[in-house]
Amino acid sequence: MTNPIRVQVVEDDEGMARALRVNLQARGYEVAIASSGADALTQLARNPADLVVLDLGLPDIEGVDVIAALRAWSAVPILVLSARQGDSDKVQALDAGADDYLTKPFSVEELLARLRAMLRRASTATPEAPVVRTDDFTIDLQHMKVVRNGADVHLTRLEWGIVEVLVRNPDRLVTGKQLLTKVWGPAYADATHYLRVYMMQVRKKLEPDPSNPRYFLTEAGFGYRFVP
Ligand code: CA
Repeated sequence: MTNPIRVQVVEDDEGMARALRVNLQARGYEVAIASSGADALTQLARNPADLVVLDLGLPDIEGVDVIAALRAWSAVPILVLSARQGDSDKVQALDAGADDYLTKPFSVEELLARLRAMLRRASTATPEAPVVRTDDFTIDLQHMKVVRNGADVHLTRLEWGIVEVLVRNPDRLVTGKQLLTKVWGPAYADATHYLRVYMMQVRKKLEPDPSNPRYFLTEAGFGYRFVP
């Protein structure tokens, strides 16, 4: 028997916390509940989790600050829940190191799918340089080589930078700020118009139908996601 996967739920809404517990336990997850940010950090320090589901609206510490505190010592995948209408808190959470987000209300199936995807990523994450293969192109990260339909594809330095960051984070939402910071540098963190232009070039070179991308997806207001 393998150990159950432990999920730390951080949610002050009792009804929601109970619903999460019931649904996750029914799928074989072990569940711990914290009702505040401070409680969550204490519990996680004592008893590390495999996944964290974090409500952004907590009574004590801002969800974003919980993420930042946790990221100081833990790489545990974090799924953020938000009831808020605005997107800025979610973007902040992602910038702070959350892995994905769901807006309330959400379906249990959607939540479970996100958690499974996060676990898959956590278990297959390769810091080395892998070769990424899709139905339409192959990207050799070590040799910085892209092949499509048997022919080499030339990417400019910045195009390669974008592709590399996204491909190294399959299925993961990467915020515009994260991409700009990694590829252009911190001074360009807000230059989202650059991204739009370069992403268009990347799609022209790699997507079978650039105006209807299937690999390099835009999540409007958030960032980009590479779906292999
Ligand atoms: Ca709340």
